[in-house]
Amino acid sequence: MAVVGARSNRHNIMAFPGMTAATSQQAILAATQTFYHPPITTQDIQPDRPIGYGAFGVVWSVTDPRDGRRVALKKMPNVFQNLVSSKRVYREIKMLCFFKHENVLSALDILQPHSIDFFQEIYVITELMQTDLHKIIVSPQPLTSDHVKVFLYQILRGLKYLHSANILHRDIKPGNLLVNSNCVLKICDFGLARVQELDENKHMTQEVVTQYYRAPELLMGASHYSSSVDIWSVGCIFAELLGRRILFQAQTPIQQLELITDLLGTPSEEDTKTACHGARSHILRRPHKANSMAALYTLSSQATHEAVHLLCQMLVFNPDKRISCADALTHPYMDEGRLRYHSCMCRCCQTTPAGRQYITDFEPIAPQVFDDCFEKDLTSVHQVKGIENLKCFYECTLYPESFKSINIFQI
Ligand SMILES: [Zn+2]
Repeated sequence: MAVVGARSNRHNIMAFPGMTAATSQQAILAATQTFYHPPITTQDIQPDRPIGYGAFGVVWSVTDPRDGRRVALKKMPNVFQNLVSSKRVYREIKMLCFFKHENVLSALDILQPHSIDFFQEIYVITELMQTDLHKIIVSPQPLTSDHVKVFLYQILRGLKYLHSANILHRDIKPGNLLVNSNCVLKICDFGLARVQELDENKHMTQEVVTQYYRAPELLMGASHYSSSVDIWSVGCIFAELLGRRILFQAQTPIQQLELITDLLGTPSEEDTKTACHGARSHILRRPHKANSMAALYTLSSQATHEAVHLLCQMLVFNPDKRISCADALTHPYMDEGRLRYHSCMCRCCQTTPAGRQYITDFEPIAPQVFDDCFEKDLTSVHQVKGIENLKCFYECTLYPESFKSINIFQI
């Protein structure tokens, strides 16, 4: 039944907007070629090993003893030290369980201990991805314009879904964009993510986003901001993909702002209206700088007019004038990435004996917004820790005995 229903939603390839038959053919041909070659692995016989560290804890590549599948196991230690950290982790897990999108990492399972007395850390199982965009950018692997287009398309596709669910990621950077050997990309790490604050009078923390990817309004102390902070980060990553180097790489937040204004020019008074008083007077007091966005053409030979045209709409000082995810996806530069992705990489379209059957909605939004009302009711660590509480949104799995052989449980 599901197959019949799904097929009725699909349509022919020529429905791709702005595509001629010739460009379609070209992109499909390119789509059949593998373009990221990970180091040769013997994944099936690899021992369990750590693949990532951070403030959040540690991620291991392990074999799930229940079905022999290689998965990523994330250990979040000491999550019950205080109410603030408990709530943050609880929110992240709830989001991981909420997500249902090909370009957003989601939880496959959560492991829970047999007794609440042993509940000191949380283990989350997610799909295992081979690498991330940071490792690809700094590798000697050639990055063609097809790579750039299909990566950017998937970043925006995943982000459109998150923003439609009312979620700001607040730490979009190459290291948080996981990539598998087929170049499928997934946004990960929701440790700083939160629901959009609609009340402009409510103070939001400025301690978000890794500095190189931090939007000017955050650098200038805006107490309220929106999903456009994520789009700024995407613009920085887009430029980094084109130039193979970090676009704004400064030592301090003040220098970061200097680098931004070197490229964008001195902002107008109106464009700094959300900035705090000190930052605003600092920037307007400085000698006037002219806009030098034309320098973006020198990033690489892939910085075509179309690419720079889109990039210039992402790297806009005023967040209200910055392009949205949904609008960026309608830019002609995205057409080839969309075609490549849906021709051979996605799971939403299907190849049948009659040819590729395309889904109607290439960039779906979330069916509902993410509701964070649950946070108001959490008033104690014990309550967050309550296994019943976790169970209410996800069917947790008790640690199987066989999992105990995995070293991550001992560290
Ligand atoms: Zn598709």
